[in-house]
Amino acid sequence: MKAQPRASHFIDGAYVEDADGAAIDILYPATGETIARVHAATPAIMERALESARAAQADWAARRPVERGRILSRAAQILRERNRELSELETLDTGKPLQETLVADAASGAEALEYFAGLAPAITGETIPLGGDFAYTIREPLGVCVGIGAWNYPTQIACWKAAPALATGNAMVFKPSELTPLCTLRLAECLVEAGLPAGLFNVVQGAGAVGGALVSDPRVAKVSLTGSVPTGQKVYASAAEGIRGVTMELGGKSPLVIFDDADLEDAVGGALLGNFYSAGQVCTNGTRVFVQRGVLERFLDRAAARTEAMVMGDPMDEATHIGPVISAEQMEIVLGYIESGRAEGARLVTGGGRAEGFGAGFYVRPTIFADVADEMTIAREEIFGPVMSVLAFDDEDEVVARANALPYGLAAGVFTRDLARAHRMVARLQAGTCWINSYNLTPLEMPFGGAKLSGVGRENGHAAIEHYTQIKAVHVGMGPVDAPY
Ligand code: NDP
Repeated sequence: MKAQPRASHFIDGAYVEDADGAAIDILYPATGETIARVHAATPAIMERALESARAAQADWAARRPVERGRILSRAAQILRERNRELSELETLDTGKPLQETLVADAASGAEALEYFAGLAPAITGETIPLGGDFAYTIREPLGVCVGIGAWNYPTQIACWKAAPALATGNAMVFKPSELTPLCTLRLAECLVEAGLPAGLFNVVQGAGAVGGALVSDPRVAKVSLTGSVPTGQKVYASAAEGIRGVTMELGGKSPLVIFDDADLEDAVGGALLGNFYSAGQVCTNGTRVFVQRGVLERFLDRAAARTEAMVMGDPMDEATHIGPVISAEQMEIVLGYIESGRAEGARLVTGGGRAEGFGAGFYVRPTIFADVADEMTIAREEIFGPVMSVLAFDDEDEVVARANALPYGLAAGVFTRDLARAHRMVARLQAGTCWINSYNLTPLEMPFGGAKLSGVGRENGHAAIEHYTQIKAVHVGMGPVDAPY
């Protein structure tokens, strides 16, 4: 099998196998062929992973932050040096085109490691004068953190969680999606090669049950999940039992608002990137594209023409723009939504079904619906596939109310040349991450996360530090103890 890892799990600095765990076959989404087989973690494997993380963490936390940073910087350099090899593996794992994985996955992971490596030594406490006495604070690591990933960005998700966790002195046990188990193992190898002590980043495979068991273990101090809202609700509830901290990066149905004064080609570009990148499997995608009525037909013409010119094909060919979705099951879900769009009266502008000519690959044609009404299923539910819904609007108040009407709040975008309006809009939009005249750019310096049902906590930026540390406050008495007895 062409992508078979050396073993299923990576624990205490080495690959570990336990064939007693349920077998998981890994399919290459472009062809449907089996490219690897891993085994789900047994209780014995989870025990080893958690125990080695627990044992390694105290020494790591005691090191100088600059030393931790140096190791993470080295890991970033290794990811960059191996970018092509890691990108090809990401493409096999997910089916995303190499054109994307070469710039968006190991590269983003390396940036996360670099960013938090640099930040680690700059994290300090404060001193608080109290007259004669004083207090000071220490930002301490939490201990053992669990990371659980979705299948769309396996390398990036693992790095966005591991980099701040490790930089601040924690250990992490990571469970990738059972659909994409390969990249995270390679990341663990790179970290150890960079000098990360054994046990600080362990990878265990499995489906939801393995994630569930990790989350409820008493040794675990914090859980960071990237996944759907229903999974988030379960994991959050389980973490609450042990009063564990959480970061929840969940799903959305984000609005992208295009005013009639916008640069139309830029707006079309933003909408295409925000719906078809990674075959539409991006949590922040602007899948409700609100277009002001005056430019609606011009927008649709240009969006359709540019979509029809996209190259769909072999993800390993760097000319390919759009590849398959992750699995046969996901393809059926997406095709079901396309059917519901048609059945509920939306106008199909382009696409609309499975792409022919790709054998058993899970290819869905990039699809644009116009005349979409707010009540339609395709305008309310996260599809997680290449389906854009275009809705017409007339004025600002109306579009803000409609954009905010759903329970999600992950992201939002505005295209307009009127900057006062742009800032007024983002102030009113209920979303954790907003873009003005751009879409889906997530530089590491910028905090990332959702409002409402789309999540709690933030990844990236200085904000992530707060979610992987806790404050210890220390009061220092400088005079005699004033006891009344
Ligand atoms: P899922 O919610 O199905 O799964 C996410 C992860 O959680 C997987 O590793 C899954 O395991 C695991 N899991 C499932 N059930 C449990 C449980 N009870 N306890 C612990 N872990 C569990 O999401 P998908 O993998 O289908 O990813 C798509 C979703 O992720 C979309 O909703 C998307 O919007 C969201 N997402 C959010 C992002 C963000 O940053 N906000 C970024 C990327 C995606 P397994 O699947 O192996 O069974």
